[in-house]
Amino acid sequence: MNFKEIIQDTYQKVKNIEDRGQLATYIPELANVNSESFGVHISTIDKVSFGIGDCSERFSIQSIAKVLSLSLAYGILGEKIWDRLGVEPSGTAFNSLIQLEADNGIPRNPFINAGAIVISDILLSNLENPKEDFLAFVRNISNNLEINYSTKIAASEKTVGFRNTALCNFIKSLDNIQNNPSDVLNFYFDLCSIEMNCKELSELLLFLANNGARTFDNSQVVTKSQSKRINALMQTCGFYDESGEFAFKVGLPGKSGVGGGIIAIHPNQYAIAVWSPKLNKKGNSNKGMKFLEEFTTKSQLSIF
Ligand code: GLN
Repeated sequence: MNFKEIIQDTYQKVKNIEDRGQLATYIPELANVNSESFGVHISTIDKVSFGIGDCSERFSIQSIAKVLSLSLAYGILGEKIWDRLGVEPSGTAFNSLIQLEADNGIPRNPFINAGAIVISDILLSNLENPKEDFLAFVRNISNNLEINYSTKIAASEKTVGFRNTALCNFIKSLDNIQNNPSDVLNFYFDLCSIEMNCKELSELLLFLANNGARTFDNSQVVTKSQSKRINALMQTCGFYDESGEFAFKVGLPGKSGVGGGIIAIHPNQYAIAVWSPKLNKKGNSNKGMKFLEEFTTKSQLSIF
């Protein structure tokens, strides 16, 4: 498969479409990016590495970090983790409060904000130095010591995080948060603030295309079974109330973030990262979705 050619063609085609998406200005610092940025990078199991456009520029990965926090927490707790949260698509927005009461404070899945907040609580209870240990875990996956939090983005989100604060307090009132809500939220905002470029992101998430193991030394980041289940969750819940559409049009497990990044995984083949900061109404990168739809159409490869 000539991924390079397909990516080049698709990139040129999608670059010029009219993009009616909007930047995620609800976190003030996220508005400070060039809205026309557009980058793509693919990393494959058999060592193809190819990028185009703004693939070396770092951006805020936001909710893509939820895949990493789930991976770490799942490794620590194993299947017991599912006592604290579910594995069902939500059909609601990423920051929705609506289902939580009916579900007794058990978030539907780890990729909506409520679920990621519970995962943050689990990590706070189980890590000695949560902020440092989480970063060390992420850096270790791809042996990349340059990955870091952005204090600016985290501080910016902390000033406006009223909805996440409401979610966390509400879950606490239903007994599914063990730590102090402000500590949980500070940790959650920190992990959302991690910055990476498309190349780093595709290298990092390649373990999910490789049965949970790092490709360069085959050491397991999560077990094979956990890797399959994380992919299943990305497939069914990775794009909130647009997860069905992503499965329908792209046909790969994936995860988006409001910084405009998307990561998609083809098990046993590749991880591809796309970044374009203008978001559609569901909070997913507009061009990123279009690029991946065209890419899997042209390559005729999806998991279906
Ligand atoms: N930090 C963001 C928030 O909690 C993450 C949302 C996202 O990327 N979908 O609102």
